[in-house]
Amino acid sequence: MSRTVSIIGSGFASLAAASYLAKDGYNVSVFEKNAELGGRARQFKKDGFTFDMGPSWYWMPDVFERFFADFDKKPSDYYNLNKLSPAYKVFFEDGKSITIEDTLEKIYAAFEKEEKGSSKKA
Ligand SMILES: Cc1cc2nc3c(=O)[nH]c(=O)nc-3n(C[C@H](O)[C@H](O)[C@H](O)COP(=O)(O)OP(=O)(O)OC[C@H]3O[C@@H](n4cnc5c(N)ncnc54)[C@H](O)[C@@H]3O)c2cc1C
Repeated sequence: MSRTVSIIGSGFASLAAASYLAKDGYNVSVFEKNAELGGRARQFKKDGFTFDMGPSWYWMPDVFERFFADFDKKPSDYYNLNKLSPAYKVFFEDGKSITIEDTLEKIYAAFEKEEKGSSKKA
């Protein structure tokens, strides 16, 4: 008898659960309220530009590697990682901005410029 599971949402958590359940033989359906999959990590495309709706930093690459390995795959089967310089820039309503650079030392310097002592551990 086939076992059926319905998953609400298509963020990382839902897609990971769906993948493991499908691997275990469940018949899985994913229901997403938005037009695009991916939840907070989805993309928004307009006028030829692509915007990331959430993540800017690729945290804990080992978690992604472990996840893909559970399916005998690796991240590079699906995507390549390119380090960006700068990592990103945040624009505020008052016209000011802060650039988040590509090394910890440069990020410390940017935070120190904003607030003295802010790069030190408490
Ligand atoms: C601005 C921003 C910056 C971030 N930066 C980083 C970063 O640099 N690095 C990093 O690792 N993480 C970052 N994150 C966090 C990361 O994006 C989230 O932790 C992760 O995407 C959350 O995944 P999730 O599956 O838990 O939830 P979500 O991605 O929120 O997924 C939930 C899904 O369920 C759907 N849903 C909800 N209710 C229903 C319903 N009733 N019916 C159908 N569908 C429904 C939603 O539409 C959504 O698609 C950032 C997040 C934001 C918003």
